[in-house]
Amino acid sequence: LVKEKKEESHDEIIGRLAAFFAHEIRNPLTSIIGFSQFLEQDQTVKTNPKISQYLSIIKDEALRMESLIQELLVLATTDFQKDHLSIINVKYMVEKTIAVFKMQPEYENVQFSTDLLDEIYITGNESRMKQLLVNLMNNAIEASEGECVIHTRLKKEDKDVWIFITDNGKGIPEDLIDHLFSPFFTTKEDGTGVGLPICKAIVETLNGELSIQNQQPKGTQVRIRLPLIKNAP
Ligand code: ADP
Ligand code: MG
Repeated sequence: LVKEKKEESHDEIIGRLAAFFAHEIRNPLTSIIGFSQFLEQDQTVKTNPKISQYLSIIKDEALRMESLIQELLVLATTDFQKDHLSIINVKYMVEKTIAVFKMQPEYENVQFSTDLLDEIYITGNESRMKQLLVNLMNNAIEASEGECVIHTRLKKEDKDVWIFITDNGKGIPEDLIDHLFSPFFTTKEDGTGVGLPICKAIVETLNGELSIQNQQPKGTQVRIRLPLIKNAP
């Protein structure tokens, strides 16, 4: 019996190519990072400022490539479908994500405020959901001008929950709004432009929607709709 093979779409081929190259580049990168870390500890290197400096550039650039490739892999794998799903308490997840930010001294000036609801359950993958919130809160922090306030609100509506994440940052020029979800679109010098496309894919895999708009008088609001579980525990 010959099993009929479904023809791959253009996107699927690009995805597979990207995943292939990302894997192939990751292995040599691991060696570059490993050996530069090893060399950094070497006595002759430590006593030579020039070599130390060059080495630290090699290491930092390789680390940056590694994180880019990590994100490219996430973007390229349409494996969201294969994620293990469980029942998620949305309030608990938001609080846990904020707690992780608060643990890090570099975010001590960020003010998190919430307006959450109990007993809101969705189906999802816990680490993907955390990745979603972390990406969005990172964007909010990176957009901040002066005092950074991030407000997260939950709202129940029929069979859905809405998650609103609002910041008081610099907002988004209107002519860029349509490009935000294109892979690799970024306005930041060291941005990767994969955060929002990944967020959108995470939410859409769960049959939800994600949109982003400017907020009056200032800042940005991300709106996420996700289906509630019918018979939550
Ligand atoms: P990156 O953060 O690496 O630039 P993203 O996909 O996360 O990539 O975001 C794409 C772009 O969308 C950002 O470069 C920025 O211009 C814009 N953006 C996203 N979130 C916000 C926000 N909360 N406030 C202002 N601009 C934002
Ligand atoms: Mg981002």
